[in-house]
Amino acid sequence: MCLRCNAMTGLSSRSKPHIPRVIRGLPALRFALARWQARRHKIALVPTMGALHAGHLALVRLAQRRADRVIVSIFVNPTQFAPNEDLTTYPRTFAADIAALTALRADLVWAPSAETMYPSGFATRVVPEGPGTAGLEDAFRPHFFTGVATVVAKLLIQCQPDFAVFGEKDYQQLKVVTRLARDLGLKTRIVGAPTVREKDGLALSSRNAYLSPGEREAAPALHRALADGAKKIAAETPIAAALEEARASVERAGFTLDYLEARHADTLQPAGSYKEGPLRLLVAARIGKTRLIDNVAI
Ligand code: AMP
Repeated sequence: MCLRCNAMTGLSSRSKPHIPRVIRGLPALRFALARWQARRHKIALVPTMGALHAGHLALVRLAQRRADRVIVSIFVNPTQFAPNEDLTTYPRTFAADIAALTALRADLVWAPSAETMYPSGFATRVVPEGPGTAGLEDAFRPHFFTGVATVVAKLLIQCQPDFAVFGEKDYQQLKVVTRLARDLGLKTRIVGAPTVREKDGLALSSRNAYLSPGEREAAPALHRALADGAKKIAAETPIAAALEEARASVERAGFTLDYLEARHADTLQPAGSYKEGPLRLLVAARIGKTRLIDNVAI
């Protein structure tokens, strides 16, 4: 019995399960897209690396509110991991991801293999400047944004979406892909979605699964430091003093800081005062073996 059609299910069209079609090759993807485009469907793409959590699913829901068809890509992109990073241990939960997307009634899952994305002889990279060289993530993960920009450019070209949704959780990445879509003259509009958090403030992340119980207990200090720092800067405490306090409280909680910086929210350039806003407060810090990032608006 086909779960995608009405026959034999006896369920109404709203309650019947809708397993998204999983496509792994470009010809089938192009065929599916051509059918939607012929019907003038508005298409959205939500790029992910899988291990889906409520943050990813909020992106899918946002896309569904604005588009006729939603594609979720699931691809753990090897080129954005440095050799010493967690590519091999990155959580992979494909069956659970499909179950979550079935519950949401997503239309299509684009799940290419590494060989499809990077065929033998692959020799083209997209190297972002501007927000991609702001001295934040790029300073600590020099491979990262070239890997991200290359794979996102490919996903946008492959899926031809009218818009693509990215989380503010990865704020510098959101700025990089927004610039990329404009600079490459793509038709896709990039839409940012707010960060989904646990009740205690910790931003949802696939990497939270790496935290030991003790580290998990300490982890909300990251968001607390950002929220307090943002409040102080908005109350016109000098930025340097507010940053110093926020950095100290993150370190007291047991983190080793990579950075905690106030930047202009659009350019990501350093900001001297609140009046230069809108500003964004961004942090990356390590606890045990886990590196977490977060950010808030000021
Ligand atoms: P990832 O699978 O980690 O590459 O993330 C895929 C997309 O989900 C990116 O656009 C992320 O910014 C977004 N995302 C990840 N965590 C969250 C979160 N807690 N809230 C909202 N969006 C998120």
